[in-house]
Amino acid sequence: MNEKAFFSLSYGLFVLTAKLGDTDNGCIINTAIQTTVTPNTITMAVNKDNYTAELIQKSGKFNLSVLSEDADFSVFQRFGFQSGRNCKKFDGFAHTARAKNGILYITKVANAYFSCTVKETIDLGTHLLFVSVVDDCEVLGDGRSMTYAYYFANVKPKPQQQTHTGKVWVCKICGYTYDESATGTKFEDLPPDWVCPICKHPKSDFEPA
Ligand code: FE
Repeated sequence: MNEKAFFSLSYGLFVLTAKLGDTDNGCIINTAIQTTVTPNTITMAVNKDNYTAELIQKSGKFNLSVLSEDADFSVFQRFGFQSGRNCKKFDGFAHTARAKNGILYITKVANAYFSCTVKETIDLGTHLLFVSVVDDCEVLGDGRSMTYAYYFANVKPKPQQQTHTGKVWVCKICGYTYDESATGTKFEDLPPDWVCPICKHPKSDFEPA
């Protein structure tokens, strides 16, 4: 079995947003697909550790914004490289509006969004699979949709562009960087079961920057 086969699958990239009470949150996902047309349904898997997954479980609703190629790395850092449990992800971010369902969606760096209601949730262990009906959707622009391949080729910073003084390791899966000078712990000294804080892949998926 060659798990590199998984790298041949193609994906889009999305900002998934949800709201519970006065709390707005959002995260990056790459797992959304249209599943059926009658009715229009979208299926996506979301890591249970994501605060957004918890908000969707409790509220039963979400918006899915389709990122376009003009989304820069800061969008991924904002929504993908930190947790809404300890920061407000929308602070200082101008490109949002509120849909009819009251949930934020992404403007300008997204070309469409969908407002959905969860019909079925399947527990997959690490992830929740949400099967959802589309209540509303709009086109926001004519920019091309961001794919995972485009992100890797054009958006994710190249290791040589980084200016860290310590030794830096990069997650080959999501681009997260582990900086030994910032943490004070050598990458080799991290426990064997340490995983990428963003995509949860193991140490073996990191390479020196
Ligand atoms: Fe990662």
